Amino acid sequence: MARIHTFSVGFCTHPACIALRGAGLQPRVFPARAYLLETRHGLYLWDTGYSARFATETCGIYAPYRWVTPVTYHHEQDNLCHQLDKLGVRAADLLAILLSHFHADHFAGLADYPKRPIYASTAALASIKELSGIKALFKAFVPGLLPSDFADRIKPFEAKTPKPLPNSLAPFRSGWPVDAGEEIWAVPLPGHAEGHMGAFIETDRGWVLLASDAAWAPESYRELRGPSELSFVVQHDRKDYFRTLARLNALYMAGIQICLTHEGG
Ligand SMILES: [Zn+2]
Repeated sequence: MARIHTFSVGFCTHPACIALRGAGLQPRVFPARAYLLETRHGLYLWDTGYSARFATETCGIYAPYRWVTPVTYHHEQDNLCHQLDKLGVRAADLLAILLSHFHADHFAGLADYPKRPIYASTAALASIKELSGIKALFKAFVPGLLPSDFADRIKPFEAKTPKPLPNSLAPFRSGWPVDAGEEIWAVPLPGHAEGHMGAFIETDRGWVLLASDAAWAPESYRELRGPSELSFVVQHDRKDYFRTLARLNALYMAGIQICLTHEGG
């Protein structure tokens, strides 16, 4: 059974109602989480959170990203490598970095893990191919955050054959096992961003879904209450978003634990 270690790697602030319709205008903190997944066969990272590079790379045409999502990140205490170090884990110990999608708050730390294989979905990879400038900005993608050898290290989740998931995870029927022991399963959670993925993790306390940005607040899947309509200017597909939310609601009703990247700030 895998163990999940959860880290907050910086945070940004927004009015609460952007993340959850009707939640008011008061500012709310949205931590950028990353997860260390400790399996029988080795260690994986799910997303990276922010890094010091976020501030240096969001300049010029990408500066509005920093203005729209004001980020608080203190390198000494927030840097994920420093946090992993406290557990005795070094970058070289990781078998791979698994990315839910290519919004900067999920992959800004990628260059801190040299030579590690990087997994993402085929659609997510296609969506950032040769993407730059204003088009990238509107997809919350900052190309300078990718390591220079990114193309040599990337592998699509879908390179493996999909397999059926246990019936207890309905309405999710199949996924892509990531690790040799099949304790991590990548699954599509479409709507938020092109190729947006989550992962089911088999732990000794049952299955847990790392649902990434499929919602920004637990009330969304518990009450089927979406974010502000304004947020769909930057989210990928409103219809898919609510379809995914309904699937999360079914899991929640069945007692499966769901972890959202930005909840609980
Ligand atoms: Zn996102």
